[in-house]
Amino acid sequence: MRRIGILTSGGDAPGMNAAIRAAVRACAQNGVIPVGIHRGYNGLIHSDVVELDARSVNGITSRGGTMLYTARCEEFKTDAGLQMAVNACNYLGLNGIIAIGGDGTFRGAGKLSAAGINTICIPATIDNDIGCTHYSIGFDTAANTAIGAIDKLADTMQSHERTSIVEVMGHGAGHLALYVGIAVGATAILIPEKPFDFEQDVLEHIREGKYRNKHHHLIIVSEGVADTLAIAQRIRDELGLDTRATIIGHIQRGGSPTARDRVMATRMGHFAIEALLAGKTNQVVCYRNSQLVLTPIDEALQMKKSLDSYMYRVAKEVSI
Ligand code: ATP
Repeated sequence: MRRIGILTSGGDAPGMNAAIRAAVRACAQNGVIPVGIHRGYNGLIHSDVVELDARSVNGITSRGGTMLYTARCEEFKTDAGLQMAVNACNYLGLNGIIAIGGDGTFRGAGKLSAAGINTICIPATIDNDIGCTHYSIGFDTAANTAIGAIDKLADTMQSHERTSIVEVMGHGAGHLALYVGIAVGATAILIPEKPFDFEQDVLEHIREGKYRNKHHHLIIVSEGVADTLAIAQRIRDELGLDTRATIIGHIQRGGSPTARDRVMATRMGHFAIEALLAGKTNQVVCYRNSQLVLTPIDEALQMKKSLDSYMYRVAKEVSI
């Protein structure tokens, strides 16, 4: 292999830069020229690329976001778009592609592989909802950002004996909300995987807490599971509590990556290049049972991630 393209696609996640750096340096170690592709598949189609070397990724491990920019590209989903991407790979002399992103990014990479371009994917999303891997780059940083914000919020809410309703990101999956909810000691955690009875699981739970002399209640709501503002209103109306709704939002996507994300992303970036150089293609780098393994893209896309029911039970049982 002479030249390998690296792209980040879909939503950004803290740690993507560490994966890029590791992939670039692993290329350099092996005498391969790393080529950064800007804005995901957009940059590939339009040959918007930059040749990198070991020095061009200095100091990026500590930065959130992605130095290659990220984007969604509808054109790439079409046959014509795919053909443009294949032509660009040939024109640019790219023998392989590292695609860092989520399920959508993997689907695109699968098509590139089928069209003859060797491709390896790295999972990155703060939601940690990718079925084939126990861990996706960005989750730990996002969780710590949310926890930091909620801890600050809790200081002021406790002082005023208010009830906080906090919306955490998740994109239809409750992994982040559950993890954060346990870490901040939430009164209740509302997530899409566990249907809840508002009267029993929220109102009655708060009533019981009040009975036990609890003056501050914290409800964590996973994005999209319910209207956070409406929940605050309903608790105020039904229990007469002073409530405040907070949507943490996109700050969860940014910030300097935690040690866990930096190390995991570095390992995945290095592993992906080794896989490409070993002639592998059409694979996702997955973290399972404490080690990195490869899973064929089609198989990876079939895999579903279920919520850790034990974690959910722990959260419930310690929230009294
Ligand atoms: P996130 O988890 O942040 O949403 P993602 O990688 O799943 O990340 P998507 O927007 O679904 O994000 O996909 C990213 C890009 O991958 C799309 O904009 C498109 O260019 C490409 N892609 C997605 N699905 C397909 C597909 N079926 N065929 C070809 N390319 C695809």
